[in-house]
Amino acid sequence: MLCPCHSQKPYQECCRPFHDGALPERPVELMRSRYAAYSLGLCDYLIQTTHPEHKNYSKDLIRWKQEITAFSEATSFDGLTIIETTDGEERAYVTFRAHLSQGKKDISFTEKSLFIKQGRWLYREGQIL
Ligand SMILES: [Zn+2]
Repeated sequence: MLCPCHSQKPYQECCRPFHDGALPERPVELMRSRYAAYSLGLCDYLIQTTHPEHKNYSKDLIRWKQEITAFSEATSFDGLTIIETTDGEERAYVTFRAHLSQGKKDISFTEKSLFIKQGRWLYREGQIL
């Protein structure tokens, strides 16, 4: 199976190790693995890699998981384009375009994501461009 992050690499050589618990060294790897996790409906991974101060961070994990699952099931994850990465020791940015659709509706978007390193890289916030 090819990786759902559209790297054209096998899943087990791309995002699967991260989903299984390995920590991404680079924010872009975390970004790709989060896209793949949405595609696969891996709620726990998405929650674990979200910074607790992110505006959508919810303490109601059951509801949050339901929202992720509903989004994942309703959405087709058609592609991922990494536009720019800015690496840093503790703060890094990844700008990407997520190609998504729901039925015939194109819901693609471009986002500049901020990642913060606190022991591990976490998704801190995203700015829709
Ligand atoms: Zn991947």
